[in-house]
Amino acid sequence: MGVGNVGEAGGMALHTKMLLGFAAGAVAGGLAFSFGQVVDVDGVQQTLPWLAATLQWVTQPVGSIFLNLLFMLVLPLVFSALVLGVVEIGDPKALGRIGGKTLAFILVVTGIAVTIGLVAVNLFQPGVGIDPAVAQKLIAESSSQAAGIVQSGEAASPMQVLLSIVPRNPLAAGVENNLIGVMFFALLFGIGAATVKTEGVRTFVGTIQGVYDITLKLINAVIRLAPYAVAALIFNLIAVKGFAALLPLAKFVAVAIGALAVHMFVVFPLLLWFIGRMNPIEFFKKAEPVILTAFSTSSSSATLPTTLRVAEEVLGTPKRIGRFVCTLGATANMNGTALFEGVVVLFLAQFFGIELSFAQQVLVLLMCILGGIGAAGVPGGSLPVIASILVMFGIPPEGIALILGVDRFIDMCRTAVNVTGDLVGTVVVSRGEPPDPVHDEAAKPA
Ligand code: ASP
Repeated sequence: MGVGNVGEAGGMALHTKMLLGFAAGAVAGGLAFSFGQVVDVDGVQQTLPWLAATLQWVTQPVGSIFLNLLFMLVLPLVFSALVLGVVEIGDPKALGRIGGKTLAFILVVTGIAVTIGLVAVNLFQPGVGIDPAVAQKLIAESSSQAAGIVQSGEAASPMQVLLSIVPRNPLAAGVENNLIGVMFFALLFGIGAATVKTEGVRTFVGTIQGVYDITLKLINAVIRLAPYAVAALIFNLIAVKGFAALLPLAKFVAVAIGALAVHMFVVFPLLLWFIGRMNPIEFFKKAEPVILTAFSTSSSSATLPTTLRVAEEVLGTPKRIGRFVCTLGATANMNGTALFEGVVVLFLAQFFGIELSFAQQVLVLLMCILGGIGAAGVPGGSLPVIASILVMFGIPPEGIALILGVDRFIDMCRTAVNVTGDLVGTVVVSRGEPPDPVHDEAAKPA
């Protein structure tokens, strides 16, 4: 496979184009914010008509269409990738081994991530000493949004999440975007297809292979738009909010981003080097399109098509393992999200002056590991989970309003960590596994 050619669009490598798009969007967004947003006499931010029109007619539609195209491909992709992944792993023993390794990876590495977050908050105490007037203002600004999150947090209790894994109606699970439910159904379907050896099943698997190949072909086409879409998405974000929103909570943002960076740039490279036997620098180069897509969409689910494409065509690991780990990982393996959940819970406990004992913090750790599995891979998917964990520890869940203003920026970073974790998981789980059988020619690059 011509790995070197993969991702080349119009002469320039895709990841280079995406990086350029990202930089162009950020610079243009910064300029637009400086010249297109003014503060009126009452201190309210006003968007000048030219910027409002650009956002409404150009950059927001471009971003939304790109996101819709990606989300459109997620359901057929999740179903076909998992069924094929399981069928290709085939033998129940191998499935048990790979499934076991994947689960162990998720639990252990998510545990490490949350621990890093909890240690960072204990060390740097970002929740102590916030100016009460500033806090009051921030909470008031986001209180209605927070009320909605608290309400959906009630529906996201750990027991509800557990129950939603086994859907009563797989189609309804798909319609409601309950990807974990769809995955469970696809896993069972794959196990069934791997164990029944009839002509009908062979035809079914051939059809599913067809669905997968078509979806991957479409992804290759959609991803060519990524550089422009990334520019538009980043522009939208910066041109509307600027960076001023980050200032009042600078310490919280620094602790969250710092902890995420430690996980991304220390823990992942160590895992890649010592367990996966892959050069981390090479890995990050290959993962660049995935990281940039996650960064600009803030959604692991929307990034899944890119993640799978990189796992299949660029990473050099067995395809069947990439399909299995990345598809499950898009909602179940969220290192960055779990870390962030821990950081917010402790931060708000500090803010409200609620002392959490060591034992309680261990419980927070466990809840956040579950929370990383249960959170949806969409922007802000972890917020309802955080609300439900806050309630468990007697911390006012409305306090989440305090961090909503800075959430989107941290969401970009934690989503990048989440999807990178799926690729790291693929490399680690692949270690010691035989390569794909030669007949596995599925989804050749176009
Ligand atoms: N946006 C995250 C993701 O899709 C979920 C979250 O942490 O809110 O991975």
